[in-house]
Amino acid sequence: MQPLALFDLDNTLVDRQSTLADWVAIFLVRHGLPGAFKSWLYELLADRATPAHFAEVRDRFGIAEPVDTLWNGYCTDIASTVACPPEVLTGLEELRTSGWRIGVATNGATDIQQAKLRATGIFDRVDAVCISEETGARKPGVAMFQEAVRRCGGAHDGVGMWVVGDDPVNDMAGAREAGFLTVWIDRGRSWPEELPPPDHQVRDARAAIDLLVAIGPVGRAA
Ligand SMILES: [Mg+2]
Repeated sequence: MQPLALFDLDNTLVDRQSTLADWVAIFLVRHGLPGAFKSWLYELLADRATPAHFAEVRDRFGIAEPVDTLWNGYCTDIASTVACPPEVLTGLEELRTSGWRIGVATNGATDIQQAKLRATGIFDRVDAVCISEETGARKPGVAMFQEAVRRCGGAHDGVGMWVVGDDPVNDMAGAREAGFLTVWIDRGRSWPEELPPPDHQVRDARAAIDLLVAIGPVGRAA
């Protein structure tokens, strides 16, 4: 039976932080707004972006365009600039070729997350996608992980089920609660001492993929 790896999207498979920072700078110039607003706008959208956030942006800056226009523009802009590293895309292919099922479990609005998954080519390299807005559940809730497993064909006895992600709570604690083994993408950060540690800690998604390929279908590292 095939093991399963669920990947987080933002700051795991794609670098949302730098993509957002670039977008903020472009948005301010486009609307003739001073660079002093850069940190406010970045912080507003740092954890998540939704149409409601763009209503706040519109009010704050007195922008005439409707919220829908601003939101759709954001989705288009981000989709055109976000990238998944080539070595991660080929890694997903290698993982599937070696017998793994792959899913994406991501918190976020459906249209922006779908746009990113399709624009980067991740969508074509995974078995299923689970986005919190359309699922009606969010990480770290167990229901979100269970739905992702269901979409990937269900749990198989005797093989590993892994979650790879960058968020210690949403990804790692949630996955542990749902019965997964865990790989934390540290991006140079230290693990928060108040939380039980992940099963593995690596620098980036490619290293996580290499680890899973090495572990193989049984589910535990030697
Ligand atoms: Mg993330």
